[in-house]
Amino acid sequence: MAGVMTSPAASASIKTRPPSVDRVLQWPGIQALLQAHGRALTLESVRHVLDAWRQSLGQPSPRALDDQSLVASVEAHLLALITPSIRPVINLTGTVLHTNLGRAPLPREAIDAMVQVASGASNLEYDLGTGKRGDRDHHVESWLCRLTGAEAATVVNNNAAAVLLTLNSLALRKEVVVSRGELIEIGGAFRLPDIMTRAGCKLHEVGTTNRTHAHDYANAISPRTALLLKAHTSNYRVEGFTAAVPEPELAGIAHGQDLPLVVDLGCGSLIDLTQYGLPHEPTPADTLARGADVVTFSGDKLLGGPQAGIIVGRADLIARIRRNPLKRALRCDKQTLAALEAVLRLYGDPDRLIEHVPTLRLLTRAEADIRTLANRLQPLLARWAGEGFSVEVVPVKSQIGSGSLPLELLSSAALAFIPRVGSRRAASASLSELSASLRSLSIPVIGRVSEGRLLLDCRCLEDEAAFHALFQQPPAS
Ligand SMILES: *Cc1c(COP(=O)(O)O)cnc(C)c1O
Repeated sequence: MAGVMTSPAASASIKTRPPSVDRVLQWPGIQALLQAHGRALTLESVRHVLDAWRQSLGQPSPRALDDQSLVASVEAHLLALITPSIRPVINLTGTVLHTNLGRAPLPREAIDAMVQVASGASNLEYDLGTGKRGDRDHHVESWLCRLTGAEAATVVNNNAAAVLLTLNSLALRKEVVVSRGELIEIGGAFRLPDIMTRAGCKLHEVGTTNRTHAHDYANAISPRTALLLKAHTSNYRVEGFTAAVPEPELAGIAHGQDLPLVVDLGCGSLIDLTQYGLPHEPTPADTLARGADVVTFSGDKLLGGPQAGIIVGRADLIARIRRNPLKRALRCDKQTLAALEAVLRLYGDPDRLIEHVPTLRLLTRAEADIRTLANRLQPLLARWAGEGFSVEVVPVKSQIGSGSLPLELLSSAALAFIPRVGSRRAASASLSELSASLRSLSIPVIGRVSEGRLLLDCRCLEDEAAFHALFQQPPAS
């Protein structure tokens, strides 16, 4: 934009009375803003700045404002208005699937597919073979069946929606039997008992927090029972004197009474992660093979795809779920379906999965590789942070996140900023200030503070050049 200019008549005058909005709109500096950003937002910003000024005139020491700083204030307000609210950040928290930071980064193939369907018309619900109406689930169902061994599949907006829809479809006004050890709360206000109430079913708790036995389930079943539910306790572990009923036995109890067993798997990795040295997570395929009739899981956790809730299982039950009018309210949009299909297609070639799915690539990244990267970045960040901090490369543990086992499992390396100042309070203040500086970079960098240090875990840092470019200026204070 052209430099800020003021009208000759008004220039250099220090006003104590604001000019009119109409006058200000004629100023060349404001005209340039009008050209660049349009009338509505420029006018809003001019009004805002003039109002603020007028209010300050009522104060004991009114602000004197010259035209130039008025234009600058309007521009600053306008730029704040048009800066996107949701934007990329660099996740160096050490939690790979960070719910607050948007969980799984998508594979290139999925992003391309989203852009394509977003850009124009698509066969979202149109059968190109017959020229008749089609089903939006159709695009992913055969892939989901191939990858999980299920008879049928459907998808909704997220896994919380998948659980809600499944319960509402299969257990409305009836009882759902759940172990007290599995009455889970997931971050972000997903509480199984609350979802169950909203789904219109009645929770029948059995067993105790640490031990639930087969006879607990068997004794709970009555004509009012609709199904048995098992929730994967993904974000905590009950240890010590514990007992849970294995899925095949639980399925046997359910099937003996002609009831379905529904399993909320949460993370639902489609492949066995132990082959990559990661902790074991039950797969939907294993869970179905052990006798579950319906399994629900997330699209944007270990699967590494878009936010979605995936429901797989017996064809007759999936058909009932699909017929529920709530399905219409909870359905996925076309971008999600395009991305999910693209990600599932990548699972068709397990040998090259790690290269293509960023979540899996980041989770399996070698510690030595991360440490080398951190060592390369250390001088840059030491220079950027200045005298107040020493910057060291330290070993840390990354977490999978998003309700996967919360234990720290993945060896990684971080840049640690250690305050040089003496007192605890001063150190903590300087760490807060440093975190704020990192958040105010043009691409905000999010780390974590632990034990008096700010840590940037380099596991999820892939674009080293872009990262370098961020640290050319000293921190904004
Ligand atoms: C994460 C999780 C959910 C919620 O899934 P969203 O996709 O976040 O809606 C539900 N149940 C379990 C067991 C989970 O781990």
